[in-house]
Amino acid sequence: MRLALIAHDEKKPDLIKFAQDRKADLEQFELMATGTTGQRLIDATGLDIERKQSGPLGGDMQIGSEIASETCDGVIFLRDPLTAQPHEPDITALLRICDVHGTPLATNLASADAVLDELLDQLSDES
Ligand code: PGA
Repeated sequence: MRLALIAHDEKKPDLIKFAQDRKADLEQFELMATGTTGQRLIDATGLDIERKQSGPLGGDMQIGSEIASETCDGVIFLRDPLTAQPHEPDITALLRICDVHGTPLATNLASADAVLDELLDQLSDES
């Protein structure tokens, strides 16, 4: 199962803490992330993460492409709702394609736990 991790700059510390707290759970997945998020997570946790482009350079679109191809099973995307983003159209497209494909999507810490728990349940049902 493949899981994407993304956080806007103001939310990166929250995602790093989440990944540290839930490292053993995240290790059950093939992980991908936008460029800077991925590097920060690798440095902080040692998790094995495929890094896409940085978000403003197309990383959100690359993850959207994985969702359209049904090669990504869930997204944890800690958005900063208080800061304008130059790549807002890409972000909107990513959220939309998750809805098109019914892909589990968490956009804040509380729902991140819920999505990860649900995907872990699906994993254990598969095995
Ligand atoms: P970043 O991109 O991980 O490269 O910072 C995230 C985003 O802004 O969508």
